[in-house]
Amino acid sequence: MKATEFDQLFDANIDPMLDTKTNKLIQIHADIDARVNAIRENNPDWQCKMGCDGCCHRLAEVPRLTAEEWTMLQDGLVKLSPEIRQEIIQNVAALTERESAFVVCPMLDKSAAACRVYEYRPVACRTYGYYVQHDKGLYCHDILERVTGGVLNNVVWGNQNTIDRQLGSLGDAKDLTEWFANTFYL
Ligand code: SF4
Ligand code: SF4
Repeated sequence: MKATEFDQLFDANIDPMLDTKTNKLIQIHADIDARVNAIRENNPDWQCKMGCDGCCHRLAEVPRLTAEEWTMLQDGLVKLSPEIRQEIIQNVAALTERESAFVVCPMLDKSAAACRVYEYRPVACRTYGYYVQHDKGLYCHDILERVTGGVLNNVVWGNQNTIDRQLGSLGDAKDLTEWFANTFYL
């Protein structure tokens, strides 16, 4: 798909409630940034940084996004070169045939160990490594190892349940594969 065709599709998908819901999403991002920054300031050797892509390699399931997250992600996708975007589209299409228990994120640049849409990534990617879900604990096993070793006793974790409730107020989430299929006719 050419960039201009993508732009037209992107424009056609704009929701009239976008401003209100986008503002909510931006507020959620700001809340997450505040928690993340507080944790990082108190723990300068925090593991989440460029080059650590373990979580992007072993997603438990295909990412699920609200419409606002998808709209924001499209902002990032449209900034990529058509070649890279096409590669991502193919990666997403391949997810439906995956055999491994884990999902490798289709937006991961494996050679650079970096997210290709970092500024536009979904909320789950922003909280992973910094937030805890009361009934499930920490998502990141690497950080959990440090917690178990007693290294991170003073960390005030974010509450994933609160974030999930806030995201829920934006509407239902859909699988990334479904968003791509609806937009790119996979
Ligand atoms: S959540 Fe875990 S695997 Fe992901 S970047 Fe942070 S430390 Fe690395
Ligand atoms: S969108 Fe980016 S940060 Fe999130 S799982 Fe994919 S590569 Fe990792």
